Amino acid sequence: MFRASGAGPPIGQYILKVHGRCDLACDHCYVYQSVDQSWRDKPRSMSSPVLRAAARRVAEHAAARGLSRVRVVLHGGEPLLVGVERMRELLACLRSTIEPVAGLDLIMQTNAVRLDAAMCEVLKEHGVRVGVSLDGDREANDRHRRFANGDGSFDRVRAALALLRTPAYRELYAGLLCTIDLANDPELVYEALLAELPPRVDFLLPHATWQHPPPRPGDDPTPYATWLSAIHRRWLADRRPMRIRLFEALESTARGGPSGSEQLGADSVDLVVIETDGHYEQVDTIKTAYPGAPRTGLTVLTHPVDDVAVLAPVAARQTGIDGLSPTCRTCPVVTQCGGGLYAHRYRPGTGFDNPSVYCADLRVLIDRTNEENRMHAENGKPEDTGAVPTAVIHQIASGFGDAETIGWLAEQELAITRALLFAVVDQHGANAAWEILGNVEAMAPDAVREVLSHPYVRPWAVERLRGGGVSYLGALAAASAVRAGIPVEVEVEAVDGVVHLPEVGTVHLPIGATGPARLRFDGAALHLTRSGEEIVADLSRHAPTESWQPVRRVALADGWTVRIEDGDPARACHRWPLTGRLRDDEEREWRSALAEAWQLIRAEVPGYAPALRTALRTVVPLRADESGAQRASTARHAFGSVAAALAEPADLAVLLVHEFQHGKLGALLDLCDLFDLNSDARMMVGWRPDPRPVEGVLQGVYAHAAVADLHRVRLGRDEHAEQVYAKYHRWTVDAIDGLRATGGLTPLGEDFVDRLAATVQAWDS
Ligand code: SF4
Repeated sequence: MFRASGAGPPIGQYILKVHGRCDLACDHCYVYQSVDQSWRDKPRSMSSPVLRAAARRVAEHAAARGLSRVRVVLHGGEPLLVGVERMRELLACLRSTIEPVAGLDLIMQTNAVRLDAAMCEVLKEHGVRVGVSLDGDREANDRHRRFANGDGSFDRVRAALALLRTPAYRELYAGLLCTIDLANDPELVYEALLAELPPRVDFLLPHATWQHPPPRPGDDPTPYATWLSAIHRRWLADRRPMRIRLFEALESTARGGPSGSEQLGADSVDLVVIETDGHYEQVDTIKTAYPGAPRTGLTVLTHPVDDVAVLAPVAARQTGIDGLSPTCRTCPVVTQCGGGLYAHRYRPGTGFDNPSVYCADLRVLIDRTNEENRMHAENGKPEDTGAVPTAVIHQIASGFGDAETIGWLAEQELAITRALLFAVVDQHGANAAWEILGNVEAMAPDAVREVLSHPYVRPWAVERLRGGGVSYLGALAAASAVRAGIPVEVEVEAVDGVVHLPEVGTVHLPIGATGPARLRFDGAALHLTRSGEEIVADLSRHAPTESWQPVRRVALADGWTVRIEDGDPARACHRWPLTGRLRDDEEREWRSALAEAWQLIRAEVPGYAPALRTALRTVVPLRADESGAQRASTARHAFGSVAAALAEPADLAVLLVHEFQHGKLGALLDLCDLFDLNSDARMMVGWRPDPRPVEGVLQGVYAHAAVADLHRVRLGRDEHAEQVYAKYHRWTVDAIDGLRATGGLTPLGEDFVDRLAATVQAWDS
């Protein structure tokens, strides 16, 4: 029925009508109450042959177009009407058919009145996220959302939402969909939705066309803008306690970003509906236009998705602004509005080639929200960045960070370490060493600052607060005094044969010696006494001896000095086995590899160099993996350190860049929330076989983007670069998409991910 030509744009989203009837009889439903009544001629539910054919078509299209992820939304009617057993079969079929080809995001949009624990178990088993329709408080919801006998659905829906909030099923809860009715008080609606603790809320304008305009009671020419603006102001005043897709779309598009919403913005819409009888259709919402509006005449039993993708109305949805009416194309807010929802543009005679019937409301809403966001930004409230300057977040989010930014982060990390030290003293009590440390700081603050900047002071403090470890205060006091040249005598603790003085060096005792020892610094030499034996280290000679190892500093090009840390017992917080004290030949290999790796980083990816030079103080040698696999790690609390097994310089460069990305992001996460700490969301990622929490994915994405970047630069120079780049690039892009879909990011986290995505997207051009 439509002209078909060429391959057409790829289709990545499918609305699967698994059941064609509903157990509610809402009078504002676009499926049953619109001019298109085609549901009457369709089967009640999707048969197995149709389901299998649909799944095969989706997989076949993803494979042909190289799509790494697709999204399938289970819809109806009411999808829960299929029942538990059928739902299990259906989900298993989708996963087993599509997942060998592409990642599969499964979503369900439901009225939830039949959602129970048995169904939740099945949905959980197959990783389905659930969006629930709720129009506000009891009065607002039950105004339309009623059973055929007139009973309201509010209580049943709230019970289902309570179930979704339990720890067992929280990961399923995707959010709420609220259809606007001007008769409802916007603030009461907002409060009712907020009370359900949704990860995300979306507001839907009532379905209407130019032929059947929406109700506009009263004198207000733009009542829908007024209604939504009231919620927007309240939302800003409340510091955005939940995510609201409509407002986030307006913010994102105001910055030139994607809208992520079908209702607004100029994003292309790569979506097709598959009906219960297997017919491909256009989006449901155009059922409000005219009878048969969504029809394509093609079915999954006879046609591949490619045949749908080339249909003019489907392809037109993917042309962005070019596909809009002449009025919209010249509109000053077109990049934010995008002509509104497709269905709302319909007018007999001109079809969908019109502005939205909500044009006036959209224009006012966009201007108002832009202005309110701007005013809020000037008051410093919109981005809850805590004490972090926006510029710092933006630089880190881009993947990089200049010396000033990373230096600022290092200062914050030092402040955290100091706070933890005070907490340790609070918990374990002050001692003479604490007093000495304070005295040295009064005389030589820079010496103490240098010692406390050692990356393993904080991991020790964290461990000590958990009740583990031994006192490190004596070592901190002694190290500070030595650096300041101030004579001191203090009790220290030997651990497995070493007493480590951060930023100074390590005294090696007879093997395995553990326990208290006396350390005296006379201004030139250290005297360590334990069990009646004294070890003397003449610091003026700077040379290592059997019992004394000064800190190993490696001076590199461009003024960067990094320490090779093979003495401090607190470095055992890394997950891989550590080397012992390096032999001289091993140390020489490390120095050489670090020098070459640093030269490569400066030459290949200079954007990452300032961060390393500013804040990477220490490299900890790890034992090599016997299979030859590379090993490296970052410990969450050890900002400024990377652990790695010795590798070829080209590989070591990758490991250093990769691991220090974790350090940068970890430092930022110490200061602001990029993800919802209460989120139980998990998602599959390319680099791990198990579902990962949001923080893990965020860390992986951030580090892998840098690895991809480094191999991108090596394309054409290194025979493996293309393969490695493709792999890390794919992991990064897929995980960014997945992160956005988890609902687990804060608005700040979303912005962070958008900025990282912009860096990755720039490579493609
Ligand atoms: S505000 Fe009106 S004219 Fe402008 S893009 Fe939106 S619908 Fe089109």
